[in-house]
Amino acid sequence: MEDKALYTQILGIQAPWEIVHVDLDVIQERVDIFVEWPARTDAPCPVCGKENKETICKVHDRRKERVWRHLDTCQMKTFIHSHIPRIKCPKHGVKSININWADEMVRFTHLFERLAIQILKCSANRSQTAKVLRISWDELNRIMSHAVIRGLSRRKEEIINFIGMDEKSFLSGHSYVTVMTDIEGKRVIDVAENRDEIAVDTLWQGLSEKQCKNVQSVCMDFWKAYISGVCRHASQADIVYDRFHVTKHLNEAVDKVRKKEHRELLQNKNTSLSGTKYLWLKNPEKWTTKDENRYAILSKNQLAVGRAWNRKELFREFWSLTTISEAEAFFKRWYFSATHSRLKPIIEVAKMLKRHLAGLLTWIKHHITNGLAEGLNSKIQQIKSIAKGFRDFENYRVAILFHLGGLDMIPH
Ligand SMILES: [Zn+2]
Repeated sequence: MEDKALYTQILGIQAPWEIVHVDLDVIQERVDIFVEWPARTDAPCPVCGKENKETICKVHDRRKERVWRHLDTCQMKTFIHSHIPRIKCPKHGVKSININWADEMVRFTHLFERLAIQILKCSANRSQTAKVLRISWDELNRIMSHAVIRGLSRRKEEIINFIGMDEKSFLSGHSYVTVMTDIEGKRVIDVAENRDEIAVDTLWQGLSEKQCKNVQSVCMDFWKAYISGVCRHASQADIVYDRFHVTKHLNEAVDKVRKKEHRELLQNKNTSLSGTKYLWLKNPEKWTTKDENRYAILSKNQLAVGRAWNRKELFREFWSLTTISEAEAFFKRWYFSATHSRLKPIIEVAKMLKRHLAGLLTWIKHHITNGLAEGLNSKIQQIKSIAKGFRDFENYRVAILFHLGGLDMIPH
């Protein structure tokens, strides 16, 4: 009898629910608590309750026993058992009554879910969290995905001014996912599998029409599906090509020039470009004294990579310009110099930039860079490395949204 009173207090069981039996197994370190709705006690219809006109109905029957894992009590795994009654409402028919300790279809109580969510939020390490909570990896995954569904359903229809669209490699680089971010809100809106038009449409369709129509600009790489997605779903928005991606394309061109030249020099036993890959890719502000000395020597040799590097460095000025006319004039000069460099990779990037010039000039107006490039990217990388190879896309999406979706996931 004392056990029942104690557990009624601890579990916060509300009348008329009552604890009918407590089973303590010290060897197995578990407590099983049997909670029932008393016989011959009428209950409110859950559907009428939602419509704010509660109808008290007769209990029709009871469902088969369900079990929920609850917070441990005295370090013992604690389970709640119950046969949930079904009422017969004149308007809605036979319905299971509401329980306040867990969500439908979930095998954990709200308090247990809350604890799991809080631990995961702090550690991000799923194996360790599962171990601490003494549940399986699959059970923890289910708690996470349920928490994400709850969080997504609670999202409000907020205006999102600046959106980022970016790709992330998935399955060790063999395939991709597309990540849509709220740049100002520093959160991931959603993640879709692949980077094709279907993926892009799925993401945009996750926003309301009002949200789509209020987007000011979308930041992205020169990726056709991302560009056409803006035309279909938010045609009023400016496309802004992401500064970090532009730099990446320029860096890749410099590296191609270096590789080719290095090969040619090696044929004449000239090793002057050995070990210089990162010298050309690093910002000169981050050069060490050793890098500076190396550059001072190399720059005397009239190398092709030096010319390529020079075009890349020149382009950096573009990002600090403040008017469209300045930017247009600058681009014209830079384009002339790049296309006269006699370096194929540089000429190719220059032509690509020219084809996308409108979306480069919008940078001057919005000054946005992709959310992924600022912090979120490294956090996604961290999630990926902790979870060691997501084989399943949905798990990867859930993990990203759980940690970076800015979601309110706690049950209440
Ligand atoms: Zn009803």
